[in-house]
Amino acid sequence: MTANLTFDALKQAVGDGSIDTVLVCLVDMQGRLLGKRFHAQNFIEHSWQETHCCNYLLATDIEMATPDGYASTSWESGYGDYVMKPDMDTLRYMPWLEGTAMVLCDVLDHHHHQDVPHSPRAILKKQIAKLAEHGWVANMATELEFFLFEGRYNKNAKSHYKKLRPISDYNEDYHILQTSKEEGVMRPLRNHLVAAGVPIENSKGEAETGQEELNIRYGDALACADNHTIAKHAAKEIAWQQGYSASFIAKWHKDKVGSASHVHQSLWTTQGASVFHDKNGEHGMSDTMKYYVAGLIKYAPDYTYFLAPYINSYKRFAKGTFAPTKIAWSVDNRTAGFRLCGDGAALRVECRIGGSDLNPYLAQAAQIAAGLAGIEQKLELPDETPGNIYANEDCPDIPTNLRDATSSLQDSSMLRAAFGDDVIDHYTRAAQVEQEEYDVVVTDYEIARGFERA
Ligand code: ADP
Repeated sequence: MTANLTFDALKQAVGDGSIDTVLVCLVDMQGRLLGKRFHAQNFIEHSWQETHCCNYLLATDIEMATPDGYASTSWESGYGDYVMKPDMDTLRYMPWLEGTAMVLCDVLDHHHHQDVPHSPRAILKKQIAKLAEHGWVANMATELEFFLFEGRYNKNAKSHYKKLRPISDYNEDYHILQTSKEEGVMRPLRNHLVAAGVPIENSKGEAETGQEELNIRYGDALACADNHTIAKHAAKEIAWQQGYSASFIAKWHKDKVGSASHVHQSLWTTQGASVFHDKNGEHGMSDTMKYYVAGLIKYAPDYTYFLAPYINSYKRFAKGTFAPTKIAWSVDNRTAGFRLCGDGAALRVECRIGGSDLNPYLAQAAQIAAGLAGIEQKLELPDETPGNIYANEDCPDIPTNLRDATSSLQDSSMLRAAFGDDVIDHYTRAAQVEQEEYDVVVTDYEIARGFERA
């Protein structure tokens, strides 16, 4: 828990007038904050206990359409309510918005007040509970890469995204000069997030024009996902405040490198000892870590959808762009899907498959499930793959498109056992909707290619 506002402190802040608004938010399937802006007085008197929302919020596509085919909700069932139950451990200031605090909610069934099984926060909590049965916690970090563009979202939308201008004119990887020019956005982003209880480590320029990276100190899996979600939201809002657009689309241009969200992971005992490290093991890996990584590797196709949920996500997987194309592990090797990094207690595995468009709750839950399956089945870790893995024909490919990833998700007995059939059916439907929407669109590319020449 890194949030920094107690209920008593909130009441005091409402009393002295420094807080007048509380954002009460759930996390949707796309990893976004949705909810209501409460007058703070109402929140501290009533709504801190619970509020309500339409249950379509966990069954929409990215444009808030109401696709059919979901068992949990539909026009037939009348799109009733869910309960939004504030998790008061997440109460915090939102310092970049005047007089505002926020709280994250768990989403509960309206009638029996149990977790809605396909709620992203509930899905992750279930895997965290499975780790706890072993006496373990997962320490995780999800890196945030994104692009900054000149002009606000509405300006870029009005020009149909045809005149997008990144904030810089050259590859700004680790650049101090260029990133100094971006401090109007990045400095308030770092400082406001720290003041909101999100433990920012640093920001840096990334390896493309206008590309940024924001690193948050690792934490337990739920804190990591909460921090990621709040930080992504803050990046969009603070960029907007400063007259820029922050985009977390995985691949915004054919000729540009895409944006990632690498997932660093390690297991620890509840007493704070690394379960992954064994000083006598190969590369310092314990047997448990080897089984865990073997699970990540074996089941990578099953959970790729949770790392790459849109049509666009798959365009990021391109050779020579630092985005992986192959399922393999390697020591400190950025061409691998799974990179072993850190020493001693810091030893961890970084999954490099996920795009910046992933939902961190779903990505982490799916990877914990795969790792635990590896441990439970004592899977053998394949040999390390050294060198340039892009060029290695022997390594299996990461699914190259949404259709393949959807089939692997639907057929995954590992994920069905871990998440439940209803949850996998729900997200399979979400993936199918994404594909169906795309399949009927006639793109500019097709017109330009075939209008005259077809
Ligand atoms: P990279 O070189 O890939 O950018 P960094 O050294 O910047 O990697 O670390 C990336 C992330 O890894 C940071 O968010 C950091 O907090 C996290 N991290 C460090 N140690 C661990 C660990 N033992 N388990 C999980 N994450 C960790």
